[in-house]
Amino acid sequence: ADHCIDYPQTPDDMDWDKYYPNKGEKSVEFADIGCGYGGLLITLAPMFPESLMIGMEIRVKVSDYVMDRIAALRIQNPDVYKNVACLRTNAMKYLPNYFKKGQLKKMFFLYPDPHFKKAKHKWRIINKTLLAEYAYVLREDGIVYTVTDVKDLHEWMVLHFEEHPLFVRITDEELKSDPVVDKLFSSSEEGQKVTRNNGDKFLAVFRRIRDPSV
Ligand code: SAM
Repeated sequence: ADHCIDYPQTPDDMDWDKYYPNKGEKSVEFADIGCGYGGLLITLAPMFPESLMIGMEIRVKVSDYVMDRIAALRIQNPDVYKNVACLRTNAMKYLPNYFKKGQLKKMFFLYPDPHFKKAKHKWRIINKTLLAEYAYVLREDGIVYTVTDVKDLHEWMVLHFEEHPLFVRITDEELKSDPVVDKLFSSSEEGQKVTRNNGDKFLAVFRRIRDPSV
């Protein structure tokens, strides 16, 4: 349960140096929400060596596994993976405790839990209230990547993002030049499972636009 989650009161209280040995003046720019076993982060780490990235995962054993995995990779490859880390948290509850306004460049929601039943839709990690938080922590032109194998959830996510005034969907044409997109389908463990089961994969990517009221 999350009563034992240790989270910062404000982003200034967060000691990121603990997570990144070469942090310097950099701040975390990519967040993989519900990162599971960390496959996406491990793939992205060498692609964006200058960017710090964090996986946020609520399950204790899974987040422990990712932390151990990263520690082992850092030993084997001393020059890589120092830009990637994982922490255990409830991202639905505490995101603004970790990130300042406009801090993030990219957020990832890969194969989020579908919560199929209507009564459980409020537990979906994409909803109106949470989108306002995601818009807050993302900088202008920041990007949100979503992938799911569940068509209903895909449509739900697209609907909520498209209804939100601070997000626009990025066209397939524009996505062709984004090197991240290719990695979204099967670098994560859930993506690999969907591939093994010949499941569908629905992609939707959104840009955080400038607030027209500011
Ligand atoms: N993204 C990973 C992948 O593609 O392999 C994992 C997908 S898995 C179906 C969904 C993950 O989200 C689970 O590991 C779950 O524990 C995590 N999760 C669910 N709710 C969360 C929350 N509120 N905060 C952080 N992680 C959460």
